[in-house]
Amino acid sequence: MSNFSVKKVAVLGAGVMGAQIAAHCVNAKVQVVLFDLPGKEGTPKNGIVLKAIEGLKKLSPAPLGDKEDAALIQVANYEDNLDQLADCDLIIEAIAERLDWKHDLYKKVAPHIGQNAIFASNTSGLPIHQLAEGFDADLKARFCGVHFFNPPRYMHLVELIPTEATRPEILDQLETFLTSVLGKGVVRAKDTPNFIANRVGIFGMLATIHQAEKFGLSVDVVDDLTGAKLGRAKSGTFRTADVVGLDTMGHVIKTMQDNLKDDPFAAVYKTPDVLAKLIEKGALGQKAGGGFYKKV
Ligand code: NAD
Repeated sequence: MSNFSVKKVAVLGAGVMGAQIAAHCVNAKVQVVLFDLPGKEGTPKNGIVLKAIEGLKKLSPAPLGDKEDAALIQVANYEDNLDQLADCDLIIEAIAERLDWKHDLYKKVAPHIGQNAIFASNTSGLPIHQLAEGFDADLKARFCGVHFFNPPRYMHLVELIPTEATRPEILDQLETFLTSVLGKGVVRAKDTPNFIANRVGIFGMLATIHQAEKFGLSVDVVDDLTGAKLGRAKSGTFRTADVVGLDTMGHVIKTMQDNLKDDPFAAVYKTPDVLAKLIEKGALGQKAGGGFYKKV
């Protein structure tokens, strides 16, 4: 373990975050295997992987040529390609924010993870110790949260979240990779619901949306007040929700409802009606072609 370095990463989930995390690693010339459900995995020639590779062009330092990028990302699925996990030094799970789905997947992948590899979840805030339930002691010691922000290629911050069982050297090794290879800024957070950034950030977004509903404020007015007119053109409340994905936001709110019942602000963690209706309609934000905004 002392000579640990990350030469190959597996990313589980080729959605909004997984595809971009994969692309970000490739930009740092790290080989990636990007897994998804059978039939949903992208290929370097189409879909979400190509979009993520496109995003590489905006990265600094200058990205690799497209052809080379594509060659560094292999796509895989959980039925046919689990053997490809064996030589991955780091496995980052980035599937939908549901504890039960993550547990199901972990059962499938855990036996294929190499004995020195680090396993980390990009969960937005599910308790890391609950995610680790079911692992043997050895894998528990190599498991932690690694919370990238969206979009990963622009957002500098990554929260690193250990459990009581996580070996300290694992965190040090992962932090070294995140900072010196991916160029991130790491904050170590405690294993509390939604960690630091989403506990505060989603609280702020929810409080804003509840007030907007109460006072009949439009999406444009709220986003002017919380984004453009503050000099943050791309980060108004509703635009941010669309970029995050409204289903993901719904799951993050549920984590607060499930785990912060006695919190003095518990009333704020109610899912706003306007959000619930859009989720029900499948208007999940940018990834679905529309949410609060038609095109974002
Ligand atoms: P997404 O909806 O874009 O993608 C979800 C992925 O999970 C897809 O690849 C889908 O095929 C896969 N998936 C769905 N059900 C599955 C199952 N039962 N088994 C295996 N795979 C399944 O979601 P996302 O926004 O990329 O979020 C992924 C993770 O990253 C979540 O834990 C989320 O909380 C976290 N996260 C999201 C953001 C964000 O802004 N979207 C930011 C930070 C962290």
